[in-house]
Amino acid sequence: MTSTVTVPAALPVRPELVGEVPYGAPQLDVPVCLNVNENPYPPSEAVVSDIAAAVAGAARTLNRYPERDALALRADLAAYLGHGLAADQVWAANGSNEVMTHVLQAFGGPGRSVLSFTPTYSMYPEYARNTHTRWLTAPRGDDFTVRTADAVTAVEREQPDVVILTSPNNPTGTAVGLDTVAAVCDAAPGVVVVDEAYHEFARTGTPSALELLPGYPRLAVSRTMSKAFAFAGGRLGYLAASPSFVNALRVVRLPYHLSAVTQAVARVALAHAPEMLAAVDSLRTARDELARALVARGLQVADSDANFLLFGRFADRHAVWQGLLDRGVLIREVGPEGWLRVSAGTPAEMAAFTAALDDTLQEQR
Ligand code: PMP
Repeated sequence: MTSTVTVPAALPVRPELVGEVPYGAPQLDVPVCLNVNENPYPPSEAVVSDIAAAVAGAARTLNRYPERDALALRADLAAYLGHGLAADQVWAANGSNEVMTHVLQAFGGPGRSVLSFTPTYSMYPEYARNTHTRWLTAPRGDDFTVRTADAVTAVEREQPDVVILTSPNNPTGTAVGLDTVAAVCDAAPGVVVVDEAYHEFARTGTPSALELLPGYPRLAVSRTMSKAFAFAGGRLGYLAASPSFVNALRVVRLPYHLSAVTQAVARVALAHAPEMLAAVDSLRTARDELARALVARGLQVADSDANFLLFGRFADRHAVWQGLLDRGVLIREVGPEGWLRVSAGTPAEMAAFTAALDDTLQEQR
């Protein structure tokens, strides 16, 4: 499989790339895929036909470069976010992966550093490596929370140019309180990014760091349409911040980074926001029911505000992961040793997962 080929030392690549493999969860053709925190519900036929019409419209202009600043899309994203935001306070790119790369290109770089709280999203160190930014970490507590005092101490000690707070965090599902975000913003010498990729799945009433934007010009909040919005294949991530923060990202982006097709299709999805988000409640219910089912089986489950659960602990987690895969259920072997991560899915997927898990654990007893 090409994805497992390492970069050979014989090639004159940057030394830090020797031995590296491309990032990515295995993409396997199995009946039940619960490994990358997607929304399992595809768009309705009505949305599909509006998307097809928008693609046809964009196709008629493909001889021209797309609108470079994607202003109409950014205005739609601002309207979706609310909080009085306008298009010049919103940035968009091909997934929040690209948004975060823009942040590190603009605010990190050689001689600079980025701090986050581990265990956390495994792509962050890769963005850091790719932008020559030093990757720094501070540990989360045993319950995977970020305690305000510990975060402030780490920020004061490391003086990072960028802090990433992930809320809810991947792979643990843990949310970060706004008091912690505000304290980190007060202590940080550089910029702070709150990665809210999974915010829509948080328990009702969980506030967004968007609320803090008016008071903190060096704060940014990143979001994605890949998770709750059921638009992972469309590749659209975005970020809200002050206009000058957004302007710094505009300086480092590649020209015409968002294709005409991406812009058009994302705007259709946003126009159908209530429908695209309709499954969020049932996915939250699936998550909470699954958490209870796992606890009833004597397993540990991290408290989650996202559409996935980190559960364990297993003496040999790889054997459990493999046992599930052998039964047609793909989950993710990620996070601290002994833990596994499973995405919330449809009722049928959840039933298949628990049946496969029971079978696997029975066999390994
Ligand atoms: N942030 C977090 C915390 C994530 O878990 C992910 C995807 N797994 C992303 C960002 C990137 O998502 P995308 O590039 O699809 O927007």
